Amino acid sequence: MRVLVINSGSSSLKYQVRDTTSNQVGANGLIERIGEGAGGPADHGEAMDQVEAELEGVLAGKPLDAVGHRVVHGGERFGEPVLINNEITRAIERLNPLAPLHNPANVLGIRAITAKWPELPQVAVFDTAFHRTLPEHAWRYAVPDSLYRQYGIRRYGFHGTSHEFVTGRAAELLGIPLEQFNAVVAHLGNGVSLTAIQGGASVDTSMGFTPLEGLVMGTRSGDLDPSILIYLQRQGLSADEIDTMLNRESGLKALAGNNDMRAIVDAAEAGDQRAQTALAVTSYRLAKYIGGYHVAVGGAQALVFTAGIGENSSVFRAQVVGRLGALGLKLDVEANRLRSGSPRVISAPDSAIPVLVVPTDEERAIAEATAAVVNSIHG
Ligand code: AMP
Repeated sequence: MRVLVINSGSSSLKYQVRDTTSNQVGANGLIERIGEGAGGPADHGEAMDQVEAELEGVLAGKPLDAVGHRVVHGGERFGEPVLINNEITRAIERLNPLAPLHNPANVLGIRAITAKWPELPQVAVFDTAFHRTLPEHAWRYAVPDSLYRQYGIRRYGFHGTSHEFVTGRAAELLGIPLEQFNAVVAHLGNGVSLTAIQGGASVDTSMGFTPLEGLVMGTRSGDLDPSILIYLQRQGLSADEIDTMLNRESGLKALAGNNDMRAIVDAAEAGDQRAQTALAVTSYRLAKYIGGYHVAVGGAQALVFTAGIGENSSVFRAQVVGRLGALGLKLDVEANRLRSGSPRVISAPDSAIPVLVVPTDEERAIAEATAAVVNSIHG
């Protein structure tokens, strides 16, 4: 099946054409500056015209069978990918308050496709869906119940498409049936999240009501004392200023002056004190969470690294695993250093559990999920 995968942001639109039989990437691209004037596309409709023009040659011989949309927030309703219709689109729109930057853009992407190719089946694949299996003791915050009932305040979790894909790959690599697989999966990209996997399902995850909670990220703070926010508001900072500070000016960027892990590792190795501290804070916090999730899943059978940093930074992986000696984890120095695009084991033979690197591929996962939904309807 030939699937157009769309990741629609407020001012940008990423696309990829995937063949789900051969797993070939037919085309991919990025349309930027949507609605920002200066000759860019005026809206998502025009952006989609540009996608169509760029795909002209690719689609000439073989048209699309379906479109798969990455949708950030599926709320409590969506635990699976779904075929989109008007009611589903409105349901995604009703979740806008929970993901004000993302869901409105996802809806614009869906409506632009509907206008252009009304007959083409469209599937929504949700970032939150994989975490719908979280037990209440993991998703509930210790705050008055009215906050949950009135505002939907609870842990939702994100990066689910990636965590699910990587979990499946890791179980396969180790030859463990998915329903029996317990693991801790670390998605370390510009956004960072950790997921506790029990019996192949998500039972805890570090991102919460929004993607801000949890670990130190490229530009996000992760966990902090909630009183800090109240204190800053009393000092006169506005909600928007605090929002920008914690989402865009914190994390590695605040600690090291930079959110590129390569540059931070290079600087740390050259003796830069701030870069060394940034690595220490980030790896320490991650190691504490890994220890906690090892307990959460009743003993993990593997620790799995994925995404930009997890797949590529042997130095950062070594720092994290170096802090997990109490769990008996030990890397194989050579295997950790080796660069590869394939799923692989990087731990020493006498490590208590294997440590894996499994490259993520969200577009592939979205394309496959889309094909499965469409086939189940036609089939
Ligand atoms: P992602 O969000 O998955 O694209 O990951 C982005 C992060 O991966 C950034 O912090 C990059 O610095 C980091 N990254 C990408 N390639 C490398 C590399 N070769 N070594 C270290 N970090 C990398």
